[in-house]
Amino acid sequence: MTSEQQKRVLVTGGTGLVGSAIKYVIENESNKKNQNEEYFFISSSECDLRNREQTEALFKKYQPTHVIHLAALVGGLFRNLSRNLDFFRDNMQINDNILYVAYQTGVKKVISCLSTCIFPDKTTYPIDETMIHNGAPHDSNFGYSYAKRMIDVLNKGYAVQHNVHYTSIIPTNVFGPNDNFNIEDGHVLPGLIHKCYLAKKNNTPLIIWGSGKPLRQFIYSYDLARLCLWVLREYDSIEPIILSVGEEDEVSIKEAAEAVVKGMDFQGEVKYDTTKADGQFKKTASNKKLRSYLPDFKFTPFEEAIKYTCDWFVKNYDKARK
Ligand code: NAP
Ligand code: GDP
Repeated sequence: MTSEQQKRVLVTGGTGLVGSAIKYVIENESNKKNQNEEYFFISSSECDLRNREQTEALFKKYQPTHVIHLAALVGGLFRNLSRNLDFFRDNMQINDNILYVAYQTGVKKVISCLSTCIFPDKTTYPIDETMIHNGAPHDSNFGYSYAKRMIDVLNKGYAVQHNVHYTSIIPTNVFGPNDNFNIEDGHVLPGLIHKCYLAKKNNTPLIIWGSGKPLRQFIYSYDLARLCLWVLREYDSIEPIILSVGEEDEVSIKEAAEAVVKGMDFQGEVKYDTTKADGQFKKTASNKKLRSYLPDFKFTPFEEAIKYTCDWFVKNYDKARK
């Protein structure tokens, strides 16, 4: 192969839940195909991507040909509820900087990350890739949702005006090692794992927030990482693609909590605090498009992935983000 075919892949958000899973998969499941790829995993301590000059300096330093853009202000329902404006402003700045500097420096491919929680609140199900802009998002996370939707607008703009083909992926709720296990700020699964750990230690009940009735499709971070690498290597459209388990694998928050209870081997009392918000009831997504490309991709069974994540948290309690 010539050096021109060498990929220099910059992974923004490289220290987060998804970025660290990609690093793990690259380092542990490497195959011949990726021998001509060099990866650079970046955290906010190296570059604040809200800042244009720092972003330009980052691209000058690494000279990427490809970017997996994961960096974002991210959080669970309760962090979104309290900081919608920050979610909008930070993510708009980060995304505009990344795509503009990538375009200016001749990056060939950028994969940015949307989320199934940005889709219209009032919609038909299952959600698919064509429905992103069809109506207002759920009020609880409107800042994050509108900022993420603008990535799709930017991708279209760069394609139409500059003939540059940048794309996006749409994962459902992600979980796994290196998640943000902070109880107030994090997503439901890391929050429940942490709360279960404390309930077990202190001999107190596990409190699940809300009614337990909302439905979610959860994707294990390592499965998502494998799919991100497939998108990097094989997926050539600028149109977004949903990366999700099937509709039949949707579970209630109650069922997810039961998997955590089992994974943590928690024998104590479980209670619901219905004074806490439920958020969006469901955001059932279709993975038909993904399946049309990868009919045989095997997702890790949910309970197995939960068990691995629980064990990781217990083992890494001191260093885990919390
Ligand atoms: P995460 O664990 O919270 O990690 C966020 C990453 O972004 C960290 O590496 C963080 O760096 C970096 N970052 C944040 N602000 C930054 C800034 N101003 N400048 C530079 N870097 C910054 O997030 P994640 O769960 O892996 O999410 C990755 C992507 O997936 C995001 O785009 C998110 O919107 C999307 N997504 C996530 C979920 C989910 O359930 N988690 C679901 C759908 C889509 P530090 O480590 O230095 O803080
Ligand atoms: P979402 O999927 O974007 O809404 O975000 P989350 O991952 O934060 O999931 C929120 C759902 O889980 C809501 O129905 C919450 O009521 C419920 N939930 C139950 N316990 C917890 C918890 O400890 N933390 C969080 N973040 N949500 C919880």
